[in-house]
Amino acid sequence: MAGTFGNPEVVQEEVDILLIGGGMAACGAAYEIMPWIQAAKEEAGIDITVKLVDKAAMDRSGAVAQGLSAINTYIGPHQDPADYARMVSNDLMGITRDDLAYDLGRNVDDSVHLFEEWGLPIWKTVNGERFDGATWPKEGGKLLKDGGDPVRSGKWQIMINGESYKWIVAEAAKKALGSDNIQERVFIVKLVNDANDKNRVAGAVGFSTREDKVYVYKFKACLLVAGGCVNIFRPRSVGEGQGRAWYPVWNSGSTYTMAAEAGAELTMMENRFVPARFKDGYGPVGAWFLLFKAQATNAYGEVYMQKNKELLNDYPPYGQAAVPASCLRNHLMLKEMKEGRGPIYMDTVTALGKLRETLSPREVKHLEAEAWEDFLDMCVGQCGIWVGENVEPEKKNSELMPTEPYLLGSHSGCCGIWASGPEDVGAPTTEEHPDKDKIPAHLPQGWNWGYRGMTTVQGLFTAGDGVGASGHKFSSGSHTEGRMAAQAMVKFVIDNKDWTPTLDTSVESLVEDIYRPVRTFLEHKDYTTAIDVNPHYITPRMLQFRLQKIMDEYVAGVATYYNTNGHMLAVAEEKLGMLKEDAMKMRAKDLHELLRAWENYHRILTAEAHMKHIQFREESRYPGFYYRMDHNYVDEENWHCFVNSVYDKDTKTWTVFKRAHKDLVDKSK
Ligand code: FAD
Repeated sequence: MAGTFGNPEVVQEEVDILLIGGGMAACGAAYEIMPWIQAAKEEAGIDITVKLVDKAAMDRSGAVAQGLSAINTYIGPHQDPADYARMVSNDLMGITRDDLAYDLGRNVDDSVHLFEEWGLPIWKTVNGERFDGATWPKEGGKLLKDGGDPVRSGKWQIMINGESYKWIVAEAAKKALGSDNIQERVFIVKLVNDANDKNRVAGAVGFSTREDKVYVYKFKACLLVAGGCVNIFRPRSVGEGQGRAWYPVWNSGSTYTMAAEAGAELTMMENRFVPARFKDGYGPVGAWFLLFKAQATNAYGEVYMQKNKELLNDYPPYGQAAVPASCLRNHLMLKEMKEGRGPIYMDTVTALGKLRETLSPREVKHLEAEAWEDFLDMCVGQCGIWVGENVEPEKKNSELMPTEPYLLGSHSGCCGIWASGPEDVGAPTTEEHPDKDKIPAHLPQGWNWGYRGMTTVQGLFTAGDGVGASGHKFSSGSHTEGRMAAQAMVKFVIDNKDWTPTLDTSVESLVEDIYRPVRTFLEHKDYTTAIDVNPHYITPRMLQFRLQKIMDEYVAGVATYYNTNGHMLAVAEEKLGMLKEDAMKMRAKDLHELLRAWENYHRILTAEAHMKHIQFREESRYPGFYYRMDHNYVDEENWHCFVNSVYDKDTKTWTVFKRAHKDLVDKSK
């Protein structure tokens, strides 16, 4: 029986492996893990138990919840994973882990083939005839595997009819794992270290978002794949538009915060993603740029990528690649906005007009339907905007706008956790690193320490948005990384079969901690007659506004056109410190607010990591995403390196340091 609001029931469980999250990476792990568990039983006589917990419902949770219209990472039989690693590196201004990107590139296609097998319609050209949503053959068929070329919208991207993408992938994961091993609507708040080994995880705690229950899990290994982070910066959509953002609003930095508190080394937390998207609806632009060959212009119809192309020469070699780095494309756009030549438009009228010159009216009609479907598949809100504002793309251009910043490691961003790479791809050690004395001694040397996807904390694995220094995995790559981590976790559990987890904190104090916002509310709620106005507590909503204001105004949000400097960061540091203290006074008047309170707590620590890394890196590595105006240049000599950090949850302080970067793939090609 569930407890009461002030006094939750406590459920304790022990499993060998816990999967935290139910998104693409978790679904990949859930699908992959069972055969390895079966093999462990048959070959070594070891029974391994596994459980998946998601704060939401897996069918529609995470970044793919609304569906997608493209799979952005598919290598195919005619391309080289090394080229993929080269692209990832250039797009992220040279500082990525080639071992991780290459490993992903050589494995990712298998996940895409599985998606197709499970029923995801992938656009194809077979014997010159194109099949897509409208013309899909009734009998179906695995065209990608058995013949036919996928319709590419770019070198690495393929088009899909993906409104139900997440549903399809989740169904396979659920079927593989079994519904008894899945717990939905449980928000994990903390990882718990082992009592006998500080650098090891032994458990996790969370609470039900529907019932008064706290869950305490013990395990030997866990996969932390709770996505990236949104809403730490004041969003462009406020007031009546609040809740709209490009990144899914329910991924609140849990991955980075829980890993940091457990002692895991983070990497490249200064990196962020500022996508340029259709204004207000955040609709995708990929199909317009890549498939319909549209161009973006300033208000006077000038194509800023051509007009401002000289600016790319300031950033060799990243600006001169065939496709300049994403941040630099924003950089060229921002010049127009800052100098008063906005709004920026996607020139849909010219693009569709040009297509009309070569295609029949029927084919053009079909393409227009595809343009709408692009939004319907993955961002239905943008259709609402087009309908509401009478936009017919063949007659009226649509505004583009760079969004507020988001933190993620699987799209065009690379912040995250420092994770072990594959064993067979070269791994430079920290011996050659100029600041090696500053690296905490307990950390492993090099890029591989035995288990693919394991962080610097024993037993703590990650994938997808969690793995730092290697972006552009997207949906398929995140699924693949989850699968690789699943295999490694089973190996880890076999290697540690006699080890018993012991929590370093009592269950009572964990429960006390998690329900603190509820107790704060119950204790003080009668002090005032207006429930939201009370000197003893702050509502999660108000606290979130404070966080967003600090980040927006001092840490290079939209308010300052993404500009900051050392002085502004010092102010942010002080204000974030006070906010962290006040976060202890958040109230929760119901379970929904309890969720909001802990999401905010995760956001604050993630925001602090972001700020600390930007403060440490004395250059502007990602012009167009953020500028340190006191070091407004890319400094290859001093900063062509990873910036990593470790958080000490007892002293609440960060140690930030450099790690040497090395190209494993020849970048001169
Ligand atoms: P997610 O899939 O986001 O999953 C995170 C999971 O963690 C969710 O289940 C969530 O409910 C759960 N969770 C969060 N916090 C907690 C907690 N504290 N406790 C328990 N559970 C928690 N990829 C493409 O291939 N093509 C595209 O066109 C494309 N477009 C995209 C558009 C947008 C707007 C975004 C945001 C992403 C897009 N991607 C695309 C990328 C792709 O969606 C991601 O790379 C992928 O989903 C990342 O997988 P993940 O498992 O790391 O995170």
